[in-house]
Amino acid sequence: MKVGNRLTLYIVLGLILGITIGSILSPMGDQAWVQWIDQYIFNVIGQLFLNMIFMMVVPVVFISIVLGVYNVGDPKTLGSLGIKTLGFYLVTTAIAITIAIVLATVVRPGAGQAELLDSDEVSEYRDTELEGGETGAAIEQTFDQTLINIIPTNIFDAMATDNMLQIIAFAIFVGIAMISVKDKIGAVVKLFEQANEVVMWIVMAIMKYFAAIGAFGLVATAFTQAGFGAIQQLGMYFVCVLAALFIHMALVYGSMVQFMAKKSFIWFIKQFAPAMGVAFSTSSSSAVLPISMETAQKRLGIRKGISSFVQPLGATINMDGTSIMQGVATVFIAQLSGIDLTLMQMVTVVIIATIASIGTAGVPGVGLVMLAMVLTAVGLDPAAIGIIIGIDRLLDMTRTMTNITGDAAIATVLDHQQDVKEEKKGLESTKPNA
Ligand code: ASP
Repeated sequence: MKVGNRLTLYIVLGLILGITIGSILSPMGDQAWVQWIDQYIFNVIGQLFLNMIFMMVVPVVFISIVLGVYNVGDPKTLGSLGIKTLGFYLVTTAIAITIAIVLATVVRPGAGQAELLDSDEVSEYRDTELEGGETGAAIEQTFDQTLINIIPTNIFDAMATDNMLQIIAFAIFVGIAMISVKDKIGAVVKLFEQANEVVMWIVMAIMKYFAAIGAFGLVATAFTQAGFGAIQQLGMYFVCVLAALFIHMALVYGSMVQFMAKKSFIWFIKQFAPAMGVAFSTSSSSAVLPISMETAQKRLGIRKGISSFVQPLGATINMDGTSIMQGVATVFIAQLSGIDLTLMQMVTVVIIATIASIGTAGVPGVGLVMLAMVLTAVGLDPAAIGIIIGIDRLLDMTRTMTNITGDAAIATVLDHQQDVKEEKKGLESTKPNA
């Protein structure tokens, strides 16, 4: 068996084992020995792995974007790549929410469950999160502030706080500057190229030796704490989100890869599976970024210049899975409240959730925080989030997997377009393994 396939197998085994053991232990979650195992074994293994990959995010994003921009070689080409990338991101996100809204409107997961709105979870969420907690502050950041904050005032501060958009912005400046003075900076280019080798080696080693066991630890602790019990009451909502994620992946990413990139979608999923497995276990697009880039470059054969531009940007602003959850959740909460959303309100949900997905950080649970903004926009009570918070950890896993698969699908399409362009113009291929 090829090394890559063995890695996929180990990660899948780690996930299955984690889900099984976590689900068995979950009903005994209040016993001391279960809590001990969860805290000192599953959690330690999982967090060690998570720290390892998080440790690589800033160096990988910074170094590879600088190199990516430098390798594209021309700010104009970069501009058109940027515009195409953003276009794809916005359109796919809007389609994702539309699928979610249509499905939830047809399936009606909230029908006949109005009593959920009076549950303790709702008042608890109102008291702790909306009035006293971070949710208020998080959604208070307005659109203009989000735009202004793209440019860092202190790059070390941006790096120290993992502010991805600011790091991307600074790296683009450095890359463009390097193109402009390229005759004088041979040593700097070499330094970045060699540093890239070093950081990618570390990512590969983490992937090879720790991904399977780390995924096991993270999933085991998530399932021990949440378990399947919590899903029962909200079964239809849960199934609806999963179905919408699946439909979006198969239909939208499937046709993009198959028809726009002329590659087999099955092949794509098989190659990208290790990154998807790690996304599932970490629930964080940002944490998995070094691994999804390495997987896209090595296994999908995407040019570094495209992967290192498209994927970090996508991990920060392209969240189709998250917006699907928000679409289903909004319709679900409207149904609980006995409200039929008008067409205008549905369009509002599509627009606001698309904007919200840009502002959603790629870390666990933020999608739920941003849901408050969407609910408020259509006049629903944001405290109703309390109802779904209990099962969100499990859905977060699947939607994060969708989030990063979307970035890779778009990178695959853009990479193919570059192939076609080079072939048409009779240029030598810039693909390293072509
Ligand atoms: N966990 C998601 C991600 O990192 C964001 C979210 O939906 O909460 O992609």
